[in-house]
Amino acid sequence: MRRYSVLLLSLLLAISASANESSSPSSSPPSKPIKQSSTKEKDKEKEKEEAPPAKEKEGRKSSKEGKEGKESKDAAKESAKEALAADELAAKIAERLAVLRKEKEEVNSRASARSVMRPVYTPRRAEPVKPKAEMVASASAMSDHGAAAIAAAMDAHGAGAWGYQGETGPLSWGKLSPANSKCDIGDRQSPIDIRDGIRVDLDPIVFDYRISGFNVIDNGHTVQVNVGAGNYITVMGRNYELVQFHFHKPSEERINGKSFEMVVHLVHKDADGKYAVIAVLIERGKPHSAIQQVWNNLPLEKTIPQEALMPLDLNKVLPQKREYYTYMGSLTTPPCTEGVLWMVMKEPIELSPEQIGIFNRLYSMNARPIQKSSGRLIKESN
Ligand SMILES: [Zn+2]
Repeated sequence: MRRYSVLLLSLLLAISASANESSSPSSSPPSKPIKQSSTKEKDKEKEKEEAPPAKEKEGRKSSKEGKEGKESKDAAKESAKEALAADELAAKIAERLAVLRKEKEEVNSRASARSVMRPVYTPRRAEPVKPKAEMVASASAMSDHGAAAIAAAMDAHGAGAWGYQGETGPLSWGKLSPANSKCDIGDRQSPIDIRDGIRVDLDPIVFDYRISGFNVIDNGHTVQVNVGAGNYITVMGRNYELVQFHFHKPSEERINGKSFEMVVHLVHKDADGKYAVIAVLIERGKPHSAIQQVWNNLPLEKTIPQEALMPLDLNKVLPQKREYYTYMGSLTTPPCTEGVLWMVMKEPIELSPEQIGIFNRLYSMNARPIQKSSGRLIKESN
């Protein structure tokens, strides 16, 4: 009896040891547990091999004892039963051990399969990750800039729903929100009819524009292009960074009473948050490749920016000749903030009738009426 107990105890210990190992397969290299399990297997087999003779001995012993009397016969029967039960138990334990071993092998093979897969997948992932990370960095930098641009545009466009016609049209802008009061009572508003300028040797605008990532948004008032950071102008000793550009149809500004098909407003901000806007007038003529790139990326839905895949050469948005008119004015949309340095390029750029037609389908009229000049000084390049 005691021997069975010893045998069972040792088998149970073997099971628990085996179960413990299988619970942490990743901590040891795959080859090690396999070796261990095989030695353990041998040990168990040894145990099993050792067990039957012990039982047989016991059996023989009890049969000898059986000759001595009925009681001892019963005892022998009982011990035989016990031996049988022990055999069954041993078989069950062996079965359970086999299951545990199988589970462990599966875990190990999965672990080793994983370690085999890793070197295959890692380089594949690593290759596209690098350019992607760069793209993400520039895109996120741009979308930050874009977000700033949108915020600036929101700020520039003021609170409340406003438009170009009817009850929310330009004559009502000042009444839509107290923040828009300048639209009504400002005396340095834009746009104006540019005439009687003083001809002087104006400092050239120094453009530091580059090829930039961009997105296009239809903000409900115009088509706006938010550009990546790093595009600057220097004028009158101040640096302004380009935030966004957008379009109006027809042109808001007039030159000696003359209106143009369209205008591009390139909105810049300096470190103090002061605005400088460059207006590039648009005439009907040849197709324009850079503007076509913008039209190619027109978003399908309003207020959701469309990221462009190809960057834009911002220098192409400018005319070749860089003479300009300049005066102090305002944003031409609510809240009509004043203190904006305006530079209107004298030479227009050209868009094809088809290209103008594309914008016309979205915004056929998004120009604020001409505001009073109120004796403001206008200077122009000689
Ligand atoms: Zn504008």
